[in-house]
Amino acid sequence: MDTSGKPSTAQFLLLATSSALTAVFYSVYRRRTTTVARLKGAKKVSIDQDMKNILTEAPGKCVPYAVIEGVVRSVKETLNSQFVDNCKGVIERLTLKEKKMVWNRTTHLWNESEKVIHQRTNTVPFDLVSHDEAVAATIRVIRPLDSSELDLETTYENFHPTAQSLTNVIGHFISGERPKGIHEMEEMLRLGESVTGVGELVLDNNLVKLQPPKQGLRYFLSRLDYDSLVEKQQSSVRFWRILTMMFGVVASTTLFFILWKQWAYHRQSRKKKNVLEEFKEQQRKRMRELNVEEASVSTSACTVCLSQKRSCVFLECGHVCACDWCYQALPEPKKCPICRATIERVVPLYNS
Ligand SMILES: [Zn+2]
Ligand SMILES: [Zn+2]
Repeated sequence: MDTSGKPSTAQFLLLATSSALTAVFYSVYRRRTTTVARLKGAKKVSIDQDMKNILTEAPGKCVPYAVIEGVVRSVKETLNSQFVDNCKGVIERLTLKEKKMVWNRTTHLWNESEKVIHQRTNTVPFDLVSHDEAVAATIRVIRPLDSSELDLETTYENFHPTAQSLTNVIGHFISGERPKGIHEMEEMLRLGESVTGVGELVLDNNLVKLQPPKQGLRYFLSRLDYDSLVEKQQSSVRFWRILTMMFGVVASTTLFFILWKQWAYHRQSRKKKNVLEEFKEQQRKRMRELNVEEASVSTSACTVCLSQKRSCVFLECGHVCACDWCYQALPEPKKCPICRATIERVVPLYNS
């Protein structure tokens, strides 16, 4: 065991990493908590005839953070799915992902990895309308791609595996990469889909718009209803809180351990110093009693009787400080006169 009392590099790294991660996770957790609080405090506006009146009376004809639940309807044109017949929507995203196995030199295992090699998103202007078809009021959704939680519906998925030949296989073992294939996916926000939008609601030239809110507020466009959206955000808060707590415990335990070790080391060395001081004091007292000059005592003389030669080694401490007579005379349990460690064994010292 390391007895120097100083923290080892590993302990230091553990402390630094876990504190840094705790700080990062805590800041994410704080942000998520604020998001949930703001989301819960957002004003619910229903799509009806009253909506414009509410906005006209509101300061700046604007509700800074509003919750809208409505149905997707295109303004003019619609997007058609490239793969599914009669599937129309207002947002269409096509993603191509390359999947491959990568050789990990550290773990000596093939790991799966995927990389987006192409992504294209098309949008056309769209409105949110009331579930009740008799209501004529509409809300135009501005910059839908800026929203977080834009969970589109997967309308098409296909995997094209890469053809493998023997020469390829040999090449893969040399390069450490083995392509698996291309994953193709189409996602859409379809017409008639129920959507919850949370953002800034403004009345602009007789057109009601839902747009990204001011700084510090998050823009949501989700296929979940409002309650599920709040619940989803809350579970993310819980996740970050647990992560923060876990790493916080690791950081504080490491810090506590390092400090405790330091303190134990200092206490130990202070104790040793005191014992030695006390021993020297006793020795000086004895010299006065025996009327011996300090200078006249041989450096190889027994530190107890000051006359005989030192003739034994005490184990485990290893001190050579006494003669055999004085060792025999030590009271039971026998302890080293210098450091007071219990004498497990005594080995005679032979001078040749
Ligand atoms: Zn002696
Ligand atoms: Zn000793």
